[in-house]
Amino acid sequence: MDHKEMHLYDAFALMRDLLDTHDALDLLIKTGHARFVDKSQLFWVVGSPSLFEINGSRIRNEDILELVQKAREGQENSYAPHSHFNVGAAILAENRLRDQKIFSGCNIENAAYSPTLCGEITAAAKAVSAGYRRFLAYATVGGFDDSMSDELRAKTVGTYVTPCGRCRQFTKEFDADPCMVIVAPDEGPFLISTLEFLLPAGFGPKNLGVDPSLYDRHAVK
Ligand SMILES: [Zn+2]
Repeated sequence: MDHKEMHLYDAFALMRDLLDTHDALDLLIKTGHARFVDKSQLFWVVGSPSLFEINGSRIRNEDILELVQKAREGQENSYAPHSHFNVGAAILAENRLRDQKIFSGCNIENAAYSPTLCGEITAAAKAVSAGYRRFLAYATVGGFDDSMSDELRAKTVGTYVTPCGRCRQFTKEFDADPCMVIVAPDEGPFLISTLEFLLPAGFGPKNLGVDPSLYDRHAVK
């Protein structure tokens, strides 16, 4: 079996597993594209093969913890009077000078519902509007506010608030490739994966021959 055949075989095996389990997160973990890690074991993750080596520098333990902390700070400003589900996000992004900075965001709901913005979208908008167009990593947190019943809260224990489909597509525009995605529940280990795996075979700026980090409105011919 050559390399290409092996790749195809793996793809079919993945599909079969997905159909069998109906559990995408379980599949992510099984295939090694996501890992559950305890905070005390973070070094094990970033110290493993270079999956998260970006621009020659690794995402450090401290970066992961800071991203989750900033996402939680963003969550404090969540405006969710309709769903009562508060989301926070934080993105580690780089500008054209390769300066790195973290931008946090929260979900912002709307009485008309459809104009609602996700936490990842508001964080991404802050980053891009400040000139930081390469997303190296981002963290997402979420959960119901204090008005919701314990019964409902209990149903969400152990679930992971992964970025929704629109956020995966929106952030792909600025994917530093790889872009680490960290999902942190209130309690328990983090889920760590990549945007590429969360949005496989996705359509992005490369399909249009565009590098978002190089776009300059004064240099467009
Ligand atoms: Zn979203």
